[in-house]
Amino acid sequence: MKWTLMLALAQCCLALAFQGPHFQVSSPVDPGALVLSSPFGPRLKASENFRYDFHRGIDIPGDLEQPTYAVAAGTIYNAYPDGSPNYPSSGNVVVVEHAVAQPFLFHGFMVDHYYALYLHLNSFGPAATLALGGALDVPIAEGELVGGMGQTGDSTFTHLHFEIRLQTLCSLPFQLANPLLQCAQYGFDPHVNFLTEYLDPVDPNLFSINLEPDGITDFRASITAPPEALIVDGLSIEVETLSGDPVYERQVSFENRTSFDPSSVASLDDPDLGGLLVLPAAFSTANDAYQIDYSFHLPPEVWVGQSQLVLRCNLLTTQGIIQSAELNIACVAIPLDSWNRVPEEPEWDVDGNGIVSLLDYVAMFGCLP
Ligand SMILES: [Zn+2]
Repeated sequence: MKWTLMLALAQCCLALAFQGPHFQVSSPVDPGALVLSSPFGPRLKASENFRYDFHRGIDIPGDLEQPTYAVAAGTIYNAYPDGSPNYPSSGNVVVVEHAVAQPFLFHGFMVDHYYALYLHLNSFGPAATLALGGALDVPIAEGELVGGMGQTGDSTFTHLHFEIRLQTLCSLPFQLANPLLQCAQYGFDPHVNFLTEYLDPVDPNLFSINLEPDGITDFRASITAPPEALIVDGLSIEVETLSGDPVYERQVSFENRTSFDPSSVASLDDPDLGGLLVLPAAFSTANDAYQIDYSFHLPPEVWVGQSQLVLRCNLLTTQGIIQSAELNIACVAIPLDSWNRVPEEPEWDVDGNGIVSLLDYVAMFGCLP
């Protein structure tokens, strides 16, 4: 039991350490035009036949040459023309470096600056043009033009792919391929959700979580979020005894990469997190809600010595837990058939008190009847 509690404590404080916002930013497009065609984190990529990947930024659709702006005062780190070796598929790219007024911890590193990346631009603004010509440390003011929106590089529609990278500009794949470089000392993927820094506290009632049994041994938590506040950060799962003693906790956080291996690229792009599947629904600007489901099972050990437990799932946003759902789950003896076998299709049963019985656990795991 002790290790579970320690794990729970570690997870609580890890999450607390990185709830945003951490710094002040304004919108990279006119605020009224800040709608998303792709959120940060797990998604089904429409342009690639709805393949699953972990989107490292946000996509803001718009018109050709629509202005994009610096989100804070900073300097142009560099500008890269379409086809550059640094960003071969990202078209015209501008990278702006910003200082952080109050440094904070991320994956054990103090973050005192971040980078804002503007991809697929059609044109460069004045500051970026100076940088393209070789000028160093060109200052840029908050709200100053970065460039015109476009669809250069690997892009099927006019949009701004916008990223925030904390402390290191080097993506995790680049760090792993170039371990001797200064920017490779971090060993984590530096991308975080811009909306965490941009949005004021959101209304929890705009979000919902639903929890139900899924198949014989799994559970499914379904989360919806409003398209104007796409700061869903994952899920935390808590199992307690009826008297409230914790027996299990697990957390999935996109921002902290909890449940992912933060040093593995493959882990980030794999929806199977080991006993838990991340199932985002397809999303576009036409959606009136963003939906993401999690299908998971509990380790059989949670049932040792237990006949009834409380399962709670919390909807995590990058601003903390804002909704929860609970299920009373029971482990009951299963009637064996005349051949002394577990019936082939045991079913979930909900009794008059709303208690769900997991009919086959006693045969599989030997929990108490
Ligand atoms: Zn994108």
